[in-house]
Amino acid sequence: MSKLSIRDLPLNGNRIFMRVDFNVPLDDGRVMDDTRIRETLPTIEYALRHGARLILASHLGRPKGKPNPKMSLKPVAERLRMLLDKELARGENVGFSPDCVGPEAEEVATQLEKGQTLLLENLRFHAEEEANDEKFAKQLANLADYYVNDAFGSAHRAHASTAGITKFVQKSAAGLLMEKELKYLGKALEHPETPFVAILGGAKVSDKIGVIQNLMNKVNSLIIGGGMAYTFLKAQGQEIGKSLVEADKLDLARQLLAAAKKRNIRFLLPVDHVVAMKPEAGAVIQQVGEGQPIPPDRMALDIGPKTIELFTEEISRARTIVWNGPMGVFEVPGFSKGTFKVANAVADNAGATSIVGGGDSVAAVHAAGVADKITHISTGGGASLEFLEGKKLPGVEALTDRR
Ligand code: AMP
Repeated sequence: MSKLSIRDLPLNGNRIFMRVDFNVPLDDGRVMDDTRIRETLPTIEYALRHGARLILASHLGRPKGKPNPKMSLKPVAERLRMLLDKELARGENVGFSPDCVGPEAEEVATQLEKGQTLLLENLRFHAEEEANDEKFAKQLANLADYYVNDAFGSAHRAHASTAGITKFVQKSAAGLLMEKELKYLGKALEHPETPFVAILGGAKVSDKIGVIQNLMNKVNSLIIGGGMAYTFLKAQGQEIGKSLVEADKLDLARQLLAAAKKRNIRFLLPVDHVVAMKPEAGAVIQQVGEGQPIPPDRMALDIGPKTIELFTEEISRARTIVWNGPMGVFEVPGFSKGTFKVANAVADNAGATSIVGGGDSVAAVHAAGVADKITHISTGGGASLEFLEGKKLPGVEALTDRR
């Protein structure tokens, strides 16, 4: 990687400001899912083992620039205490600052000793965070000597804690989780082992146009499922009934299909469908076979058995797989089969490097019980999509270049 890593920083005795993603679901002050905290524990433990005086900062929810007790990170400090206690017997050394900037935060940060951790209150209690305000960034930087970013999920945003702050510290480096994300996503885009198969799904073509265009230069096969497939099928002149379609993207869909053909990219679309009147549990479900039109009053809500077979076969031949987006309305039981079958197909290809990103596909590999068979599950939905679009992520660009 061309950016510094936490391994390159002189951690011992120094104050390290680490931007983490502790944007966890809370219910009445209780952490409902601590996955994001656990994902970044290796970086936290690495810093503490190497004698860092550690300052952690994160956003949680959308408090819109004002303090809001419902979005306080205090319960997260308690969970972190518990987790660190279990792993390192260091739980008692986690402190909490009720503001992320100001005299109190500065005083506690100054007094912090080697191996101790301070979690700052929600960065977004200050509107200056999202505005990437220079003065605020400087105040954050004043708390520490070096900066580490382990919040890949926020790296596509140029905020004070992800970008601005790096101008005011000696060096800025990637944390271990950030490094892992960049390694897998970077390798897939730059030096993929072929065949490289990308699987895209979800509701809208418009959300994934950038990804399709960028991947067009890199993949051997493009598998498209979910609602977005129907704009392509309509562009090919097929009867799609009431399925999701973006009428203003039909021309673009035609162009993308033509570009794929020209480049010899295999462009796989659903050939049969699971349809219903509504995407609701209990709706009467029908199958529409290969070559059959989707009836005018039905919408396609999942891929059919023949498509599952076709997609599974293509996936089984891949050496690199990138998957983002469900194959149907998988949150409704009758329309989840296609997504789960794809999750299994990706997991069953043990010889491939597989990368899964996006909330729904990640949820699907967990629900299918195959998460441990995926090479890399990305922690950043929006950030991983922008990375796949070939965009530069401000939170990564801001880190110090390795010389
Ligand atoms: P996205 O956020 O674009 O990845 O889209 C995810 C959403 O797409 C999920 O909530 C799915 O319910 C929805 N979706 C997937 N397939 C279809 C489909 N065939 N028709 C309508 N919605 C779909």
